[in-house]
Amino acid sequence: MAEVIFCKCGHIHVVSDKQVDNAILSNKDHLLICASCGASYAVGAEYEGPVEGYYMHRYELNEEVMSPDNIKERFSEVVYSKGHSVPMMSGYSANYYFNGRFSDERAISMDEVKYRMMMDHIQFEEAFERLNKDRHTVNMSLFMRKTPDVILNQVCTYHIDGLDWSGTKYDKE
Ligand SMILES: [Zn+2]
Repeated sequence: MAEVIFCKCGHIHVVSDKQVDNAILSNKDHLLICASCGASYAVGAEYEGPVEGYYMHRYELNEEVMSPDNIKERFSEVVYSKGHSVPMMSGYSANYYFNGRFSDERAISMDEVKYRMMMDHIQFEEAFERLNKDRHTVNMSLFMRKTPDVILNQVCTYHIDGLDWSGTKYDKE
């Protein structure tokens, strides 16, 4: 079973069926390092018995120092990947993800300065509100256009508030 990782930097990683299988077969974990932010995730599964089957596990490695031997012992494979970026309505990609929500935390500072210089207070409040909404809203049509189908098919199986699949072929409800 593939595993999707929604990284805190706003990028999406997919550990494929084959990579998970490899980890299980070698009795190790798959190690994914996010090239966008450096976060590292171990993904694998434990066999719980004939009825329960496999139980997937995933954990983040925090500041762990590992030697090359150590890495070989613990992990079936090491993948260093930028993952898939998530375009926001602000025009930038998400650089933050938390609890089902993507956001673009950079647009606010750049555009805030620009808007403050150009606009009076009321105009600014309106523009700011719009910008605030845009930087928290995923541009779904662009996301679907630029992301491979095989990835989207995995991502849409997760319940993520920030990803609105309604009206698309990925809407599985
Ligand atoms: Zn990341």
